[in-house]
Amino acid sequence: MNLHEYQAKELFQRAGIPVAQGIVATTPAEARAAAQRIGGAVVVKAQVHSGGRGKAGGVKLAQTPEEAEEKTRAILQLSIQGLPVRKVLVTSAVDIASETYAAILVDRAVKQPILMLSAAGGIDIEETAHTNPGAILRIPIDLTTGLLPWQARSAAQRIGKKGKEALAMADMLVRLYQVFWSEDASLAEINPLVITKDGEALALDAKVSIDDNALFRHDDLEAMRDTADETAGSILARQKGLSYVPLDGDIGCVVNGAGLAMATMDLVQFYGGKPANFLDIGGSSNPEKVVAALKIITTDSTVKAILFNIFGGITRCDDVARGILTALDQLTIDVPLVIRLTGTNEDLARKILAEKGLTATTSMDEGVQAAIAAARGGAQ
Ligand code: GDP
Ligand code: MN
Repeated sequence: MNLHEYQAKELFQRAGIPVAQGIVATTPAEARAAAQRIGGAVVVKAQVHSGGRGKAGGVKLAQTPEEAEEKTRAILQLSIQGLPVRKVLVTSAVDIASETYAAILVDRAVKQPILMLSAAGGIDIEETAHTNPGAILRIPIDLTTGLLPWQARSAAQRIGKKGKEALAMADMLVRLYQVFWSEDASLAEINPLVITKDGEALALDAKVSIDDNALFRHDDLEAMRDTADETAGSILARQKGLSYVPLDGDIGCVVNGAGLAMATMDLVQFYGGKPANFLDIGGSSNPEKVVAALKIITTDSTVKAILFNIFGGITRCDDVARGILTALDQLTIDVPLVIRLTGTNEDLARKILAEKGLTATTSMDEGVQAAIAAARGGAQ
């Protein structure tokens, strides 16, 4: 789960990382009042789950409260990477002497958190990562010790910081690691970490992503979730505890088990179709999960056919069949349903389905091909 900049800055502040004073506003008038309270020049910043806001016109300097109001009006009309801007952060403007990139993230390749640090901070860091990866320092962090002060100081020195600046930056990095660690983040990033013309170190931007699997022990972070940009299907899947990833194809897939779900998606592609989603209903035999799965899939209007692929082991095929019938009673499903099932209680499942005139194939190949044909038929 991604946090907004203003939320990430709250975490930073609690950890003692210096940030400029900021106030969230949802209307131009609120932004004007915020600028008045802050005093002096401010920066108005779009709060959306997207990087590159500066380049998209979502970060604007305003000298007066009137100007802050005007800039906010314009920013609230933007969509950045398809995400409509609904809030801005009005923050005290600073005079920048230098911009550094700093991040702590999980590096799957080395199976460790790493500190990434670069003197080439600011809005073009992605480009630097491609064209000049050597300009970005990568330091693995030992999980048993965390980021040690000397490591942080040495890293700051290696990117050219000296004296007080190096110490201030190192202090921020150690605190950044504390945020990363204590909040179960997968990423904690400051870009840019600036040294102001007054020689102060400051987190000018903040990006924190929380590991979804750890959210159960962070109620305060869960409360920060912004569902405004989430689809109805994703919200429902989270409520029902199902793993659901929407994709851009048109064959809705309901599968028990992550491995089989991936194999199903591969087979759909193999036969020339495109999966509309990954959806794992898990290994249990709960008909309710089947109903939930169909509810989730039917929120996606691009789905032209639904494919059930069930391998009965612990999952009992008859439970899945009952779930399908219940769902058909509760929901209007106006796309073809193709069912493949095999394994525990499959005969019973077929009998249950037959009561409503439904059939199920045994072969996965046949099921997938039938779903693709059904989707094409529906498209005509
Ligand atoms: P991003 O484009 O989404 O990463 O948004 P940032 O918060 O990083 O802002 C983009 C850029 O705007 C920064 O890299 C800075 O160069 C600039 N910027 C943001 N706040 C200020 C400020 O208070 N003063 C000045 N001079 N520039 C700022
Ligand atoms: Mn930034």
